[in-house]
Amino acid sequence: MDLELTEEQRAFAQAARDYAQGELAPHAARWDAEGIFPREAFARAGELGFCAIYASEAIGGLGLPRLDATLVFEEMAAVDPSTTAFLTIHNMATWMVGQWGSAEVREQWGPLLASGEKLASYCLTEPNAGSDAGSLATRAERDGGDFLISGAKAFISGGGDTDLLVVMARTGGAGPSGVSAFAVPADAPGITYGRKEEKMGWNSQSTRPISFEHVRVPARNMLGAEGEGFKIAMKGLDGGRINIGTCSVGAAQGALDAARRYMDERRQFNRKLSEFQALQFKLADMATHLVAARQMVRLAACKLDSGSADAGTYCAMAKRFATDMGFQICLDAQQIHGGYGYLRDYPLERLVRDTRVHQILEGTNEIMRVIVARQLLEKGADIR
Ligand SMILES: Cc1cc2nc3c(=O)[nH]c(=O)nc-3n(C[C@H](O)[C@H](O)[C@H](O)COP(=O)(O)OP(=O)(O)OC[C@H]3O[C@@H](n4cnc5c(N)ncnc54)[C@H](O)[C@@H]3O)c2cc1C
Repeated sequence: MDLELTEEQRAFAQAARDYAQGELAPHAARWDAEGIFPREAFARAGELGFCAIYASEAIGGLGLPRLDATLVFEEMAAVDPSTTAFLTIHNMATWMVGQWGSAEVREQWGPLLASGEKLASYCLTEPNAGSDAGSLATRAERDGGDFLISGAKAFISGGGDTDLLVVMARTGGAGPSGVSAFAVPADAPGITYGRKEEKMGWNSQSTRPISFEHVRVPARNMLGAEGEGFKIAMKGLDGGRINIGTCSVGAAQGALDAARRYMDERRQFNRKLSEFQALQFKLADMATHLVAARQMVRLAACKLDSGSADAGTYCAMAKRFATDMGFQICLDAQQIHGGYGYLRDYPLERLVRDTRVHQILEGTNEIMRVIVARQLLEKGADIR
C-alpha cells in the first residue's frame, strides 16, 4: 500500500495550483461580491483539461482516475471553493454524457463540454423532491420519436448560465425505477429560468429554479436506457460526493495556511499568537482533521476507480466527514483571525460561507448517514 503521490500526480497538482493562483485567486473575492459567473476562467480550465478530468478520452476528456481529479479540485478550492464546486458539477455532468450518451449526443456535446466551450448543469432536485429524490414528479412522455418533458426543478447550479441540462424525469411508474435521464439543450423551447437565488455563499455561480413545459427532446437524447435514470443520477453523485468533499478539503487547506501565517504575524500580550498553546493545539487539531478528511476522500476515490462494490458507502462516509471537518476548520481559522476574520479583507468569511452548503447538497449529511447506516444494518456491510 503506497499512499504517496507519484511524480506525475505531483506535477498535475502543481499545474492546478498554478492555474488557481493565476486565474482564480486574484478574482475570487470580486466574483463572490459581485455574483460573477467566470466563464473565461472555465474556458481556461478547459484548455488544461480540467473540464473533463475523468470523462472518457473518446469525448475529449482526460480519462484520468477520480483520485487525480481530487488533486486538481483541491488546489483550486483552496482559493475559490465556489467556482471550483461548479467546475466539479460540470465534470460530473460531462462524465454522465460520455458514459451514457448515445453516439449522436456524445459526438454533438462531448468535445464542447470537455473543452469548456459549453457548460452543463445537473437537474435532479425538485421543489417537493429533495432528499427523497426518487419521488421526483417531472414527467417525460413519449411523442413519436421524441419525449416531451414537463415539470419543475429547483436549486440548479449554473441554471440560466449553462448550455446543457442533464435532467432526471419520470417515464414510468412511481419510485426510482420509473426515472430516466436526458441531455436537454438549455435553450430548448418551453424551458423557463426562475429568479437567481440569493445565497449565503457559492456566489460565483448562479442557482435557479427551472420549469419545463412540453420541452421536446429526441429519444436519442436519453442517457442510458429507459428506467435507468435514477441509477445513473446516483452514479454521478458518487463521484460528485468525492468532488464536494474535496472542495471542503481544499478550502480547509487554504484556511489552515492563512491561520498559520496569521499566528506568526499577529502579536498580543507582547507575544506572537503562535506562542499561545491554546492556539497551537487548535492548529494541531485542524491539521489532524484535515489529513484525516483528505485520506478518506482519496480512499473513496480509489474505491470508485477500482469499481469496488462498497464504493458508494465510502463516498457517503467521505462526503459527510470531509464536509463537516472542512467547515469546522474554516470556522476555526476564522476564529484565530479574531475580528479580522469577520472582515472581507481576509478570505476566511468567504471560505466559511462557501463551505457551509457542502454539508447540505449532493445529499445532505443526514442522508449520508442514512446511506452508511443502511449498509451496516440492512446489508451487513463489513467495513474492515
Ligand atoms: C446552493 C445549492 C446548489 C444546489 N445545486 C443543485 C444542483 O445543481 N442540482 C440539483 O439537482 N440539486 C441541487 N441542490 C439541491 C440539494 O441537493 C438539496 O437542497 C438537498 O438534497 C436537500 O434537499 P432539500 O433542500 O429539499 O431538503 P429536504 O430534503 O427537505 O431536507 C430538510 C432536512 O431534513 C433532513 N432529512 C430529510 N430526509 C431525512 C431522513 N430520511 N433522515 C434524516 N433527515 C432527513 C435533511 O437532511 C435536511 O436537514 C442545490 C442546493 C443548494 C442549496
